[in-house]
Amino acid sequence: MKNTHTAAQSASNAIPPRRTRPPRLDWTAIAPSVAQLRRQGCSTRETARRLGLNIKTLEAHLRRHRIRHAIPMDRPDQVRRTCLNCDTAFVADGRFLRLCPDCRAMFS
Ligand SMILES: [Zn+2]
Repeated sequence: MKNTHTAAQSASNAIPPRRTRPPRLDWTAIAPSVAQLRRQGCSTRETARRLGLNIKTLEAHLRRHRIRHAIPMDRPDQVRRTCLNCDTAFVADGRFLRLCPDCRAMFS
């Protein structure tokens, strides 16, 4: 079977893997800031950047707290969002979409 399409390896790992575990964080102090940024429509990545957190650390924290955030993304231009109107987690096709498909249909 010929594979003429050379798949571009999207290995854009800017951050090298760390062997040492990051220091324990005081989530009781950080959680309110995280919740506030997420309410403002920040993605996990944006939230982590603004708070100076490791994205993996924040994602693990969000998973632990069962924040609905487990929507798989299959395109790089897709962005995880929480709907500004109904607070439903969804995947937006672009970073400027802040309403879930249901609410968008309702408002348009
Ligand atoms: Zn909605």
